[in-house]
Amino acid sequence: MADSIAGAVIDYLEFARSGGMLERNVRLDELPRLADLLASTEGFLSVRLEGSRDDKGKSWLQVDIAGEPVLHCQRCLGGVEFPLAISSRLQLIAPGEEWPDDDLADDSADAIEAEKALAVLSLVEEEVLLALPIAPRHEQCNLPSGNATENGPSPFAALAALKKQRNKE
Ligand SMILES: [Zn+2]
Repeated sequence: MADSIAGAVIDYLEFARSGGMLERNVRLDELPRLADLLASTEGFLSVRLEGSRDDKGKSWLQVDIAGEPVLHCQRCLGGVEFPLAISSRLQLIAPGEEWPDDDLADDSADAIEAEKALAVLSLVEEEVLLALPIAPRHEQCNLPSGNATENGPSPFAALAALKKQRNKE
């Protein structure tokens, strides 16, 4: 089997029932909506999906995504690496099953409707898009123009020159 999960669809409820596990690398250029935001589409994300059912008969999907996509810095427009470490626990709601209410809110889990076949890539892409910063930035930009203002004549140098001149007078 190829290392890619492009086009892969899973019956998530079955995946959860059978305690399924899927580990794959997803190439960044397989995620078009994400790729639009990236400075480079080289590289990949490590994706791990794990299905389970709890003793109340609820179905769960654990989604772990790791990688280091390169975004555009909003200040200097250079590439800025964003370490991604997503760990989401999703409750799978079967069609017709009652949507969970408040007790889920405490659980830091989201619910998704588990259609019979849900494309793995769109699930992964959705999770990554939610995790990205709105305005990625370097902590300190390395502008090619350098710190021109800082290297310019210092106000203290000007002051020293002035003092010198006064001493001459
Ligand atoms: Zn920058």
